[in-house]
Amino acid sequence: MRMAIAVAKTKGSDPADSPLGSVIVLDGRVLSAEPNQTEQLPDATAHAEMMAIRRACEASGEMELRGATLYSTLQPCGMCTMATIWSKVGRVVYGAGREDVHRMYFEARHVDTLAFIADAYRDDVVIEGGCLRDECAALYYPPDVDLPEAEQANL
Ligand SMILES: [Zn+2]
Repeated sequence: MRMAIAVAKTKGSDPADSPLGSVIVLDGRVLSAEPNQTEQLPDATAHAEMMAIRRACEASGEMELRGATLYSTLQPCGMCTMATIWSKVGRVVYGAGREDVHRMYFEARHVDTLAFIADAYRDDVVIEGGCLRDECAALYYPPDVDLPEAEQANL
């Protein structure tokens, strides 16, 4: 997770830039370490977790990442959660959760991405939140900040 935080910080310290970092580890080896790259590419699907999955598959030469752990500084969104399920990642560890940051980082009002994991046909996916929670949450807008609509990435 410390590596994921360092990767997130390569985007700077402005919470408006969605500084997310994701690292995928398999058998003690780092397969990928990627920040959010939506604006640079530009590609709306280039979330840190999506990029980390793509690079990990390239690095391993495998479509499936069974046994791998994906670390993310923020609770994965629905898209990234589904990508995690499809790529057969075995374990997801995130830092800050939905309740720790502003809602602008999430796409849906009520659907909890944890429910996607719970409802998956796969029953071998483990998800754990709160790893270095405070350090990760400090990267993002806090839950109660009053943001203008133009600043809210999910609108
Ligand atoms: Zn995402």
